[in-house]
Amino acid sequence: MRVTTDVASLRSGFDGQILQPGDDGYDESRRIWNGMIDRHPAVIARCTAAADVAAAVMFGRSGGLEIAVRGGGHGVAGYAVPEGGLMVDLSPMNKVRVDADRRRAWVQGGALLGSLDQASQRFGLATTAGNVSHTGVGGLTLGGGMGWLARLHGLACDNVESYEVVTADGTIERASATQNPDLFWGLRGGGGNFGVVTEFEFRLHRVGAATMTADLFFTPEAAPRALRRWRDLLPEAPRQATFTASAVTAGDLPFVPLELQGKAMVSIGFVWIGDPEQGQKLLPALREAGPVAERIRPLTYVELQQVDDNPQGHGRSRYWKSHYLRELGDDAIDAFVSRGDPTGEIDAALLASGDLQAWGGEIAATGHDESAFSHRDALVEFVARNGWVAPDDGQHRIALARRYGAAIEPFASGAYVNDITDAGVAGVQSAYGSDNLARLAKIKARYDPDNVFHLNHNIRP
Ligand SMILES: Cc1cc2nc3c(=O)[nH]c(=O)nc-3n(C[C@H](O)[C@H](O)[C@H](O)COP(=O)(O)OP(=O)(O)OC[C@H]3O[C@@H](n4cnc5c(N)ncnc54)[C@H](O)[C@@H]3O)c2cc1C
Repeated sequence: MRVTTDVASLRSGFDGQILQPGDDGYDESRRIWNGMIDRHPAVIARCTAAADVAAAVMFGRSGGLEIAVRGGGHGVAGYAVPEGGLMVDLSPMNKVRVDADRRRAWVQGGALLGSLDQASQRFGLATTAGNVSHTGVGGLTLGGGMGWLARLHGLACDNVESYEVVTADGTIERASATQNPDLFWGLRGGGGNFGVVTEFEFRLHRVGAATMTADLFFTPEAAPRALRRWRDLLPEAPRQATFTASAVTAGDLPFVPLELQGKAMVSIGFVWIGDPEQGQKLLPALREAGPVAERIRPLTYVELQQVDDNPQGHGRSRYWKSHYLRELGDDAIDAFVSRGDPTGEIDAALLASGDLQAWGGEIAATGHDESAFSHRDALVEFVARNGWVAPDDGQHRIALARRYGAAIEPFASGAYVNDITDAGVAGVQSAYGSDNLARLAKIKARYDPDNVFHLNHNIRP
């Protein structure tokens, strides 16, 4: 196919901005959250409306350009940025409109979670969104969307009433339970495979401002006992609580005793939605294992949603490995604590950190075949994360994250599509399983038979 970067035909009638290498703003626009991604699209189409998106898709197709879609730019695999292709950049489409009486929010395809949270909380409302406010609603919701409200109200995708989508032939479709219901099914978990979502219509819930977080810290030696206690409490935890655990190298944080700073540590705890006094009732049982430090924070809902914004800031190079676990046996706990280094030979500062986050509650209340999202039976999700600045460190840091992921893999039941990176075809298989994948492939064949949208965790038609 002919590859052209003659953008004159795209410019006419396009309301947004077209950028090519050398243009002001080009480098800024091709940068995403993961600093490791350094690709150079031939054209960046900064869209302002569905019509711009449709024009860009048709331009890319006619010019033989590979098409990538950028929502919030937080996909760790970096599919949002094509090398030499067309980047359909939705970041100018970042508006959120709330109808408080109807408890609905209309969210443009490039909006960030923080905009949704803030617009909704103004009316004492919210819907499930992820844990870091600079993440995109688009990618997060299309893959499922896990957040602190999910055990109460389901995944982000469970709260979508309808989608406006530009499909591969440039038409603007709607998908809901009654309009294109097959597409609606696929968009709830199937990622960016079926088109470009220009608007999400979300259901909102009454969510007050009060929340709290609790983190109790243990040395690696004491951690297995603490984690077993945490695990035993997890199935009975109220839906307002999302249990969390982390295996990290402690920084110079004021609540960590001086002698433990820079050392490996494990935290257990939870995020609580609602009155902190109620949430604190969970603490005595978790404290039984004798923490060396703790951090209990009452926060407003909007503060909670931003609390990890800085630690998870833009620009560093990042690599993740993730797995779902249906159960957390003692062996899995030991593997979690050892961070892929059971003999303790590697400098703890270089090791990947690990997180566990509880699923269940309302997430599991939706049937397996009711949406493309496929792991509603997960007890917890595990993510190993490594981050670095110097490019030369990359290979070693990636190898260490893979090692941690490999140590947990024997206990895994699948993976979350939004947290997989370079797992390829096997990763897509582990995200959906055979039955949902076969159904997704049929929907793909109907809406994108030429696999125009293939720069993603790809479902083949
Ligand atoms: C710091 C951080 C915190 C995170 N926290 C959570 C969390 O709490 N819960 C959770 O569930 N996940 C979380 N994630 C994972 C997150 O869901 C994925 O990284 C997701 O892909 C981010 O979406 P995005 O729009 O920001 O990214 P992008 O890189 O812009 O998009 C990722 C892919 O999604 C598709 N896409 C995005 N927008 C659209 C659209 N409008 N239409 C069609 N396709 C689109 C494209 O295929 C694109 O390649 C987190 C990620 C990061 C980096």
